Amino acid sequence: MEIISVIPRGYCQGVVRAIQIAKNTVRENPHVPVTMLGMIVHNQYVVHACQQLGIRFVEEAGRSRIDLLDDINEGIVIFTAHGVSDDVRQKALCKGLTAVDATCPDVIKSHELVRAHCADHGDVLYIGKQGHPEAEGTVSLSDRVHLITCCADIEKLNHLNHVLITNQTTLSLLDCQRIIDACLKKYPQAQIASEICPATRIRQQAVMHLKNIDLLIVVGDVRSNNSHQLKEIGLSSGIPEAVLIDSIQDLTIDMIKEKDRIAVTSGSSTPSELTKQVIDFLQEYAQDPHWKNPPQTAEVKI
Ligand code: SF4
Repeated sequence: MEIISVIPRGYCQGVVRAIQIAKNTVRENPHVPVTMLGMIVHNQYVVHACQQLGIRFVEEAGRSRIDLLDDINEGIVIFTAHGVSDDVRQKALCKGLTAVDATCPDVIKSHELVRAHCADHGDVLYIGKQGHPEAEGTVSLSDRVHLITCCADIEKLNHLNHVLITNQTTLSLLDCQRIIDACLKKYPQAQIASEICPATRIRQQAVMHLKNIDLLIVVGDVRSNNSHQLKEIGLSSGIPEAVLIDSIQDLTIDMIKEKDRIAVTSGSSTPSELTKQVIDFLQEYAQDPHWKNPPQTAEVKI
């Protein structure tokens, strides 16, 4: 059995920055309640490590960032790496909260592009995932931003002006291009601004270039969009099997037995300790497949 550690993988700069901002905020404000508006990044281990530092989280499936703000009445609110709309910033200000912004610079760049286009009276076709906080934040910037989750959504829109096609930063390169092509069929004169961030792009390209792999293991949280995309890209690139696991606790011998070449990668919100545990175990198993089952995972520190 051969184990291929895909490079690059794991934390991107935006996630490292968001975690550092959260840690600094707690350290510099020891007597102030600090609340994160949503999951800091889509990884339960990182969330748990932040909770250990004293950060409270408000998060509920189906509730928008602006609604979640109702649950924060004092202290500091941290906006996550996914970014928020201007309405959320304004509401936090009106409530007297101190806002700390951990929005990823790549998301800020994407917001600036959308704002500028709307100010110029253009419409934006924004390709993204329904319910994802980044898409929610960007679509809320203006009534001129239209969320496109699939090709069918394009047909529902008419009479758009001076169209810009852009997208969420963590989409699959392949899916995004397919929807861009469909948008162009209806709006052939549209401008295109591909905003898949460099971290997402190079992690996906590294998976696309893998050869002769029997199994791709993606270490990442089930809520992490970029982790899902790595799995889907692997399958679309001809790898016969791909699995998304939270940590080594989800790895089973049935998944790996009789595989000759296993590649391991991880989402950009996955702590490197979790991926290392998987790789270390696979390498030991490759040496001697009879001697043990995967170990229990250790707690992650940030
Ligand atoms: S995946 Fe990209 S956009 Fe998201 S936090 Fe990382 S660098 Fe920023």
